[in-house]
Amino acid sequence: MISDTIKTLNSELPATVKLVAVSKFHPFEAIEEAYQAGQRIFAESRPQELLAKVKRLEEIRAEKGTPDYMSDIEWHFIGHLQTNKLKMVLPYVSLVQSVDSLRLLEAIQSWASANGMTIDVLLEPHVAAEETKQGFAREDIMAILSDAARYANIRFRGIMGMATFTEDEDVIRSDFAQIRDIHNEAVERFPRLAMDFSELSIGMSDDYRIAVEYGSTMVRIGSMIFGVRQY
Ligand SMILES: *Cc1c(COP(=O)(O)O)cnc(C)c1O
Repeated sequence: MISDTIKTLNSELPATVKLVAVSKFHPFEAIEEAYQAGQRIFAESRPQELLAKVKRLEEIRAEKGTPDYMSDIEWHFIGHLQTNKLKMVLPYVSLVQSVDSLRLLEAIQSWASANGMTIDVLLEPHVAAEETKQGFAREDIMAILSDAARYANIRFRGIMGMATFTEDEDVIRSDFAQIRDIHNEAVERFPRLAMDFSELSIGMSDDYRIAVEYGSTMVRIGSMIFGVRQY
């Protein structure tokens, strides 16, 4: 049951850790069920799907004549974001967790400036062993933050990371330690940003308990809450 899992997670997680329910590939009804159980933050990884769910909620409000229905729901974006899809995502989310390239960061700054908005982002370092090119090197992140004034419409809120997809707990621990160290270094080197730069988004269904040991402030949990995804 969705609501039971949410209650269990909330009682288990320290008060300093926010629960982000990853609802990708699950229907809007599943989100409603989680919301009824008290869940407020939901994350999606595909622009089209996020937009469809935002529109579905608007439809339900109109149908029921209840404009305030689920009005305090919060959306995060956690997937790969192409620069031509910004307008499908940025107006609706309170946090873009997955900023993984300078090109994307620059595009978000331009869009936000043109639309008079400030966008909250997490920077995603590349630490996992997988051969993907996504994600920043540690020194890229430091360079961006030392130049933070260039991004007047972006609020840097912290770091999001993923551990290598493996059963080997030592590898997962080493990845989380690296991600945490990048976050700590940034906070030490850029004290002016430190107030905002408080989030460390690490931990998913299979590794959130380990992530909490490494200082996670935000766990992103999908399949444990909603069941296996039908791709
Ligand atoms: C899908 C996804 C999750 C959730 O994964 P589960 O293993 O289902 O908990 C978390 N973070 C990101 C970036 C994801 O894409």
